[in-house]
Amino acid sequence: MRKIVIAGNWKMYKTRTESLEFLQGFMSCLTETPEEREVVLCVPFTSLAVLSKNLHGSRIRLGAQNVHWQESGAFTGEISGPMLSELGVRYVIIGHSERRQYFGETDETVNLRLKAAQKYDLIPILCVGETKQQRDAGETEAHIFSQLAKDLVDVDQEKLVIAYEPIWAIGTGDTCETKEANRVIGLIRSKLTNPGVPIQYGGSVKPENIDEVMAQPEIDGVLVGGASLEAASFARIVNYQ
Ligand code: PEP
Repeated sequence: MRKIVIAGNWKMYKTRTESLEFLQGFMSCLTETPEEREVVLCVPFTSLAVLSKNLHGSRIRLGAQNVHWQESGAFTGEISGPMLSELGVRYVIIGHSERRQYFGETDETVNLRLKAAQKYDLIPILCVGETKQQRDAGETEAHIFSQLAKDLVDVDQEKLVIAYEPIWAIGTGDTCETKEANRVIGLIRSKLTNPGVPIQYGGSVKPENIDEVMAQPEIDGVLVGGASLEAASFARIVNYQ
């Protein structure tokens, strides 16, 4: 049985106060969530400490949205593995398309970040996926296989989550057809040395489509952006049927 991981990616949303407000509403909705579902909140760095304190003893796991490959050093604006681990962070998103597109993240830096995360006992959520242009040109598989080949060099596949996120489906309301997402995720799995790696789907997941997404046999969870910002909406997603 592969682990189911339902993760929210808050991106650059929510102050510390807003994060606490969310948590109050969200916690009260979680009582009915089956135990075997891992629920993760990947929040801005500024909300990690307060959520860590308030999540103590809860079943919700804390996640960050990036990690540098060095333990410390002159890297202005970056954050290191030990800094995150000390706060009780368990997961970290690496290689999100927004990092790759706007902040110069490459497969080489993604690989360095993945290895650093694992060194400090953080489980990376590696994001891969194609642009609309690549999909239209029939390059989806080749692009994703190339990302996996470069990103996963010397990465321990026992401590890893992968998110398949077609870039054209992120934040657009344009969800990838569930059967197609299932097909691509099956192909991703065929390239792994550990078939037990949980592989999520990400891209405009919302309460209205979560049941259909999770009914697909290859899909082991979801990475949710916009719909994870509202407590009732994210609770409906983690409580999928
Ligand atoms: C994401 O940011 O990883 C994402 C999938 O966003 P959204 O759910 O808003 O499409």
